[in-house]
Amino acid sequence: MAGTMLIGGEWVTSVSGNTQDVINPATAEAFTYVPSANMEDVDKAVAAARMAFRNPKWSQMRPSHRQRALLKLADLLESNIDEFAELESLDNGKPVMMANRVDVRSSIDYLRYIAGWATKMEGRTVDVSFPRPRDGGGYFAYTAQEPVGVVGAIIPWNFPLNMAVWKIGPALATGCTIVLKPASETPLTALRLGELILEAGFPEGVVNIITGSGSVVGAAISSHPDIDKIAFTGSTEVGRAVGIAAMKNITRVSLELGGKSPVLVFDDADLDAAIAGATSAIFFNQGQACTAGSRLYVQRSVFDQVIEGVAARAANMKIGPGLDPTTQMGPLVSQRQRQSVCNYIEKGKKQGAAVLTGGSCPDSPGYFLQPTILTGMPQASDVVQEEIFGPVLVAMPFDEVEEAVSLANDSPYGLASSIWSNDHKKIHRVIPDLQAGTVWVNCHNLLDPNLPFGGNKLSGFGREMGRAVLDLYTETKSVLMAV
Ligand code: NAD
Ligand code: MN
Repeated sequence: MAGTMLIGGEWVTSVSGNTQDVINPATAEAFTYVPSANMEDVDKAVAAARMAFRNPKWSQMRPSHRQRALLKLADLLESNIDEFAELESLDNGKPVMMANRVDVRSSIDYLRYIAGWATKMEGRTVDVSFPRPRDGGGYFAYTAQEPVGVVGAIIPWNFPLNMAVWKIGPALATGCTIVLKPASETPLTALRLGELILEAGFPEGVVNIITGSGSVVGAAISSHPDIDKIAFTGSTEVGRAVGIAAMKNITRVSLELGGKSPVLVFDDADLDAAIAGATSAIFFNQGQACTAGSRLYVQRSVFDQVIEGVAARAANMKIGPGLDPTTQMGPLVSQRQRQSVCNYIEKGKKQGAAVLTGGSCPDSPGYFLQPTILTGMPQASDVVQEEIFGPVLVAMPFDEVEEAVSLANDSPYGLASSIWSNDHKKIHRVIPDLQAGTVWVNCHNLLDPNLPFGGNKLSGFGREMGRAVLDLYTETKSVLMAV
């Protein structure tokens, strides 16, 4: 198994024979390797997916059988929860308890949810206004939802299994085939999922999982003329390049990109809940979450109390290797990521930030980093405006409701936000004004399979999850019959 990837139902090495190491972020040591694919491998995978899309074994498979296979996949994942959680922890660094409770279990839930849609696809009958023909006939018009075809999916390293399932699930529910590229840092759970996909009875080539670098494999997928739809999750910078490459072929594209989500705490909030919520909003998953509550705005009269509460909780988090079940915060995913986060901390200090807690950059072999809170920097500074994607919180006071809203919206991103308050009039006044795909009230980072998820502004476009995701994986066919 080591050193192979899934193309056309077979476990294969790369055409070139090249491989790349998989690193344990807690030790900085390589513990296995995977193929390092290139364009030739991508061509093979796309050809396999195209063949599978045409194969009657898949194209004629009844929706109820697609549903059953997806449910079986969920069951198989459920019988291997501990293995998947350990693999995810080893590969990404995240605490194994989190991987178990969040990553693996929510992947199972999502597969069961999306399985149900396989049997619930529908079109509409449509009234048309043409004059009736003289012979007394008429017109019958309807729409049908058809699978978009071969999907190319490119995913990030922060929730590797979740992201794989968010792409593979709807592709299979709607009858598409897929070529998935996991992030180079975290290929393992996607590959293991590939084994379960074959075991669940999906025909060969329906799901292909191909490993390698973003600049080679990701770029080859984005610009591939025989891919019908690109589903990308990752940074705004790479998403833009992927979108431009896809557009050259008028390939459909959806982009789930970065964020810099504000957490607004009003003075009437339950402050204990807000403090606990603001802490986990940013430090969950080592701050490596697209929806991380990375900007904390607190009403001035309770500012000190709230940030000191968050700082105390942050300073008490137990940092350690993900595989230790008592660890609350693991290492960051890579040395590159830790360095990038540290550069932001240094930049913040230079631009006037005070360090409330954390703030130092260790050079331990594992990629550990203390939770860090910065205060006192201007709204325009880089640490407030840019996505850091690590355990760094910037905290700022506000006075009026309008000011809170305008600070929240003063960001190129628009992925998510949370409001902490017990004043329902205020809450309902703020919700419509927030430029964000998701607004949480008195909670943060809660995603449900039935609730559409996606971004505004530079956080991208398209909605995954819920019924909305079906639009990303289907095309509407309009049929008009003279009868
Ligand atoms: P990234 O953009 O560096 O990489 C994402 C994927 O793109 C990886 O598989 C990578 O190999 C690939 N890639 C890299 N260069 C490429 C290129 N030139 N062409 C095609 N593909 C290429 O992002 P990351 O560091 O893996 O993940 C972190 C980012 O993802 C953050 O910005 C985060 O906010 C975002 N994210 C967004 C969501 C969401 O749903 N909105 C979810 C998770 C993560
Ligand atoms: Mn890894």
